[in-house]
Amino acid sequence: MHDRPALPAASRAQVNAGAWLDVDLAAIVHNWRLLKQQAHGRADCAAVVKADAYGLGAAPVTTALYAAGCRRFFVAHLDEGITLRPLLPADATLFVMHGLLPGSELEAVTHDLVPVLNSLAQVRAWTTLARGLGRRLPAALQMDTGMARLGMPADEFNRLAADLHQLDGVDLQLVMSHLVSAEQAEAPTNAQQLQRFAAARARLPAAPASLANSSGVWLGAAYHHDLLRPGAALYGVAPMAGRPNPMRPVVRLRSKVLQLRHIAAGTGVGYGHAWTAQRPTLIATLATGYADGWLRSLSNRGAVRFNGQVLPLVGKVSMDTITVDATDLPPDALQEGSLLDLLDEQLTVDEVAAAAGTIGYEVLTSLGSRYARRYLGAEACTHSL
Ligand SMILES: *Cc1c(COP(=O)(O)O)cnc(C)c1O
Repeated sequence: MHDRPALPAASRAQVNAGAWLDVDLAAIVHNWRLLKQQAHGRADCAAVVKADAYGLGAAPVTTALYAAGCRRFFVAHLDEGITLRPLLPADATLFVMHGLLPGSELEAVTHDLVPVLNSLAQVRAWTTLARGLGRRLPAALQMDTGMARLGMPADEFNRLAADLHQLDGVDLQLVMSHLVSAEQAEAPTNAQQLQRFAAARARLPAAPASLANSSGVWLGAAYHHDLLRPGAALYGVAPMAGRPNPMRPVVRLRSKVLQLRHIAAGTGVGYGHAWTAQRPTLIATLATGYADGWLRSLSNRGAVRFNGQVLPLVGKVSMDTITVDATDLPPDALQEGSLLDLLDEQLTVDEVAAAAGTIGYEVLTSLGSRYARRYLGAEACTHSL
């Protein structure tokens, strides 16, 4: 043992890990530029990096996008903002979409975060703090134009618009709203929300506006306003239902063969024997399971790839493993430790999501913490910080 040469730390992690997750930062930057190119007129493009940049790593993603020229970022939780803020220079703005939670107002100021105010109560809390500090405080204001989730409802908005002095002390950096069905270009809610957004803005002081998420970008110039607010498309998820995906794939997930076994026809595999071999079968057990975000709904449905050949996932997804039918590979193609593709350019996040009965967003944000993660292409992202 002692005469084996020491491996550098990165490759040691890869030798030890059961599965590798590669995140292509250059592809994320490419996707951001592609979205920015769609922007009408002077509209700028922000980046939504909530939920650890959809599971891919908020710190490296944010750093790469800043280097590429992105200056506005959105997170959901205050704590996500507190973690990211030190990585960004002062000319970057970090918006917190969950707004102000009671008692957290001063934290937002301390950490140089811009809350998205979602209610009249939040406007009051922010202006009260501004008066106390004797200065204007930056904020975004979110209108509910149909989502009925976050954002100021119509009755509260009417009360605000009736007396705009209620915004005294607010440095209004953005007025925003969120689309219900942007991925369906023909959905009637799109035009309805666009119209409500315009009506609301007309009653507010002039401020930059933002409506489009990833899918909204592809609804056309009328939806672009001053700032695009994409998340999923940056990470390679297809923004338009039923149309070719213009985004570049970002993740590659490979899992190692832990064990190979030849089983006879009639042998059941895994929990509940949810699958039974119909022929003499080669089963490969891979080191990824539902604890790694390989959703249990992929039981008997998913597939993996080896050298371009598709191998069906058979039986239940376990916590730490999946089993695949490798019978159709050339003899001895696989050994223990061989790497099989779970996500790649052919087997996309959207395809896996379709097999699992969910959306690409959930597949990405489910990816667990046990992978050996590598960030590729950072050197291609122009100058660094
Ligand atoms: C998550 C989110 C986005 C980004 O949406 P994508 O569909 O991932 O582009 C934009 N705006 C709000 C309010 C969000 O919650």
